[in-house]
Amino acid sequence: MDLDVLSIAAHPDDTELTCGGTVIKMVEAGYRVGVLDLTAGEAGSRGSARLRSRESARASKTMGLALRDNLGLPDAGLADVREYKLKIAQKIRDLRPRTVILPYWDGRHPDHYTAGRIGYEACFLAGLAKLPLAGKPHRPHKIIYASLYVPALRPTFVVDITPYFEKKLKAILCYASQFSSRADTQNLFPSRADLRERVGSLARHFGLMIGVRYGEPFVTREVTAVDDIVTMPVRSI
Ligand SMILES: [Zn+2]
Repeated sequence: MDLDVLSIAAHPDDTELTCGGTVIKMVEAGYRVGVLDLTAGEAGSRGSARLRSRESARASKTMGLALRDNLGLPDAGLADVREYKLKIAQKIRDLRPRTVILPYWDGRHPDHYTAGRIGYEACFLAGLAKLPLAGKPHRPHKIIYASLYVPALRPTFVVDITPYFEKKLKAILCYASQFSSRADTQNLFPSRADLRERVGSLARHFGLMIGVRYGEPFVTREVTAVDDIVTMPVRSI
């Protein structure tokens, strides 16, 4: 399977929350987009792995994904080990994505930043011919990091998701087990009512940076080339 875009994330719902609008935008542009979750989220405080897998299937359908897969690595136990990197690298060879979205390489949750780090190394390993992996070597052309979980970070670029915001919210709301109405857990598990405001205010914050209503932030390690300085988007003044 040749994917145009593959989002690799630690837990089911990470892709929806951090770059769901961008994923939907690419699907609606006609690209083949897949999501690879590294863990089933079984160690999360709320919802079993089975329930989260049903929720994830519904969210995938909402976003129009060509593929959703789960590697079954240990939740709250992602680590920089060769076995995990080779498993991810095998998926990259199988799916042959042109662009890979990874979680930003730093942050609060160890699974998130570890997924970003081992995901990057897996993209490298997938291109090495002599490793014990099936299929032809493949490396993605582009790796971009979804940085919404680290909102203080200045993004390299922001994707305008204004027309896709409602669908993103709908995909997030498929994960009903992750929302709570208990006041003491509101910081990590917002209520349904609070979710719209929370997702909306972050998307609005990044949208403002590029002069649109809603946006999602990304970071790249490399510099982006510009050919035409006359038609560059985003007003300076
Ligand atoms: Zn997560």
